[in-house]
Amino acid sequence: MVIAIDGPAGAGKSTSARMLAERLSFAYVDTGAMYRIVTWLALRDRIDLDDGLALVAACKPHEWTVEHGRVLVDGEDVTVALRQSRVDRDVSRVAAHAEVRELLRERQRRAAATGNVVIEGRDIGTVVCPDAAVKIYLIADEEERARRRTAERPVSDSATLATELRRRDQADAEQSRPAPDATTIDTTVLELNEVVEQMVRLVDAVSAGRE
Ligand code: C5P
Repeated sequence: MVIAIDGPAGAGKSTSARMLAERLSFAYVDTGAMYRIVTWLALRDRIDLDDGLALVAACKPHEWTVEHGRVLVDGEDVTVALRQSRVDRDVSRVAAHAEVRELLRERQRRAAATGNVVIEGRDIGTVVCPDAAVKIYLIADEEERARRRTAERPVSDSATLATELRRRDQADAEQSRPAPDATTIDTTVLELNEVVEQMVRLVDAVSAGRE
């Protein structure tokens, strides 16, 4: 079974998706990490961020794995580096290229085809896995999303983070839409475990309908 979870930054996708996967003993696929890997590689290797073909060519020779929450690129642990503000700043620019999206969507589909998977991103329910058994779209008030982002990145200034979040929302708007058959969960006033409980109920309802 594929469970697709989409939504903007700070809506609670990553943590709730990871918790849901653990709870169900499903694999967890973080597609945002893939766009971050390409961005990190491009910044490191000084690739032109406006050249989609060059970005694809630059990342093809590299091996990357995401296991137990750690991201390795050619064996190097880049988990923390992927969350740097310069990656936050440029990732939407990289993700806007059709060539980059094509390459990563192919990898994402392959990861989703391995069986029971919780896969999260922006376009999973709409484009990557339109046949997913369960589709969830998480939202939260902008203020709350900015507050969560500040809590995740305590060294950064909160006004800058709020501005960055707003800018990224605008840049991602084209890829980030709920599928018409997605269930929206507003996480603004919910605790994480309440979000996960709602997700589990949706999964149970779909499983019961399939029996
Ligand atoms: O989820 P996260 O904030 O790590 O995603 C980083 C960026 O990757 C997003 O802002 C967006 O530009 C891009 N992204 C995307 N499609 C996805 C997942 C992420 O365009 N499925």
